[in-house]
Amino acid sequence: VTVRISEIFRSLQGEGSHVGLPCTFVRLAGCPLRCSWCDTAYALSASSGNRMPVADVVDRARALGLDFVLVTGGEPLVQPETPALLQALLDAGAGTLALETSGAYPTDGLPAAVHRILDWKCPGSGEDGRNLAENLHSLRPTDEVKFVVASRADFDWALAEIRSRDLESRCALLLSPVVSIPEGAPGGPTQSTVSATELASWMLESGVRARLQVQLHRLLWPDRERGV
Ligand code: SF4
Repeated sequence: VTVRISEIFRSLQGEGSHVGLPCTFVRLAGCPLRCSWCDTAYALSASSGNRMPVADVVDRARALGLDFVLVTGGEPLVQPETPALLQALLDAGAGTLALETSGAYPTDGLPAAVHRILDWKCPGSGEDGRNLAENLHSLRPTDEVKFVVASRADFDWALAEIRSRDLESRCALLLSPVVSIPEGAPGGPTQSTVSATELASWMLESGVRARLQVQLHRLLWPDRERGV
C-alpha cells in the first residue's frame, strides 16, 4: 500500500489542544478544496509530493518520534489508503495520533484511537458547502473542531454552528483568526483578515466556550513556508 506524501518532518505543533508539543508531521499531498486562505498551497495538487509505501512512512515517523504524530495535508482523507496509514502508525506504537481533515470526507470509519481535528469551513473559506454534517454526529471528547474565522460574519456563523449543534459540551473547540493570507493562497490578497485581538473580544462578548488559537509555528518561523 502506498500514499502520496508531501513532507514528513519534526516540529512543534502550532495549533489545537496539543499546541507547543514536539510532533512528527506526516503531510499527505492532494486536496480538492480551495479555501481562500489556505496555507499549504504547495500540497494541493494531487500530483504534488511522492508516492511512498506505508511501511516507509512509518519507518520515517519512527525515526523522528512516534510519541505524537499528526497526519495532515492537503486533505488526508481524499486518499483511500489513509485509514491503513493511520492503523499502521498505531500498530507501530504511535502515542497520540491526530488527523487533521477538512470535514468534507467521512470520518466515522477511522480507528477509534485517532484524535480527529475537523477544520469546519466557515463561509469566508469559500468551501463551507463541502462540510459533511454527519461528521459532527459522531464527535468524541478527544476530537476537536476548528473554525478559521476571516470576518465578523464568519464568527457569527461559527457561533450559530456551535450553539445549534451543542458542540461546546461535546469536544474541544478552536477559533483561529485569518491574520494574513499566505502567498499563493487561492483567495489571494483581496481576502479579508481578522486580528487575534478582535476575535478575542468577540469570543468574550459571546461567552462561547472555545479556545482562541494563533498559529504558533507562524510566530516562531514567519519566513518558513514548509517543514513547520
Ligand atoms: S485549507 Fe482548505 S484548501 Fe487548504 S489543504 Fe485544507 S482543506 Fe485543502
